[in-house]
Amino acid sequence: MAEAKIIDGKAFAAGLRARVAEGVAALKASHGVTPGLAVVLVGEDPASQVYVRSKERALVELGMNSFDHHKPADLAEADLLALIDQLNADPAVHGILVQLPLPKHIDTAKVLARIVPEKDADGFHVVNAGLLAVGSPGAIVPCTPLGSLLLIRDVLGNDLKGKRALVLGRSNIVGKPMAQLLLQQDCTVTVAHSRTQDLPGECRRADILVAAVGRPEMVRGDWIKPGAVVIDVGINRVPGAEAGKTRLVGDVAYEEAVKVAGAITPVPGGVGPMTIACLMLNTLAAACRAAGAPVPA
Ligand code: NDP
Repeated sequence: MAEAKIIDGKAFAAGLRARVAEGVAALKASHGVTPGLAVVLVGEDPASQVYVRSKERALVELGMNSFDHHKPADLAEADLLALIDQLNADPAVHGILVQLPLPKHIDTAKVLARIVPEKDADGFHVVNAGLLAVGSPGAIVPCTPLGSLLLIRDVLGNDLKGKRALVLGRSNIVGKPMAQLLLQQDCTVTVAHSRTQDLPGECRRADILVAAVGRPEMVRGDWIKPGAVVIDVGINRVPGAEAGKTRLVGDVAYEEAVKVAGAITPVPGGVGPMTIACLMLNTLAAACRAAGAPVPA
């Protein structure tokens, strides 16, 4: 069997970013509004710092405002909530992103709930989760599942009706919204998790397999239905070949899977770049809604 098509998330994300930049320019020209995202980082977690920097860079590149709020790890919860209140009230801020994880002394659910739903650029607020669950077009959709769906549609086309989809992982930020999106596309969706029986068997039935478990290379080649579309959301750092060096791997054993799947996302260069591009899209959409301008499709 031929090797899988490698889904180039980096190239797709570059195209999406270019479309967002055009939308930003159009909104500035038509309404005099520059979309702005407030990026809140609490503490010095190195991975979070890397993610935040790339988000802030992307905002500037696309012509948007990046309002950076980097706070020390011992920031009191009350002070973070007060900052959210201030950003909620600021008309120049169209989206608010609180980088997770937050330090342990802060209640994440409480902080996310404090963001007004229309500025919830990550789509984590329960109101947006609810809007997504009822299929409302007004929902702000979490960036990673949204980006994953765009890649799936790029490979299979817009008609996913009747496809069997297996979402491996049921987190609120990836697995559950991914399942909702695929259900909206009329897929027959199964959600698997750590208590699922016969996981390999469940995976083998899937035409579309989305892996979001956070377990390095857990999904083996012989778990995959020949020709399936495999979206590997996982980002796992493992020891590299050289002593002291590390490398990134996904939740799928890529070298095995690429021989069986019809199409597969690499790690890195698959879903990761789509997440940031979709955050940019969500910010533009929030600014368009606030300005009463048409929201880009
Ligand atoms: P969570 O840890 O929140 O969720 C993991 C899910 O996987 C849970 O539902 C858990 O089941 C399930 N799971 C864990 N172990 C097993 C197992 N052995 N068998 C079956 N199911 C299992 O992770 P996230 O959803 O936040 O992230 C998942 C992965 O995606 C991570 O690698 C993360 O780094 C990556 N990620 C990548 C992003 C990107 O931009 N590319 C963005 C966000 C995340 P249960 O519910 O039963 O515990």
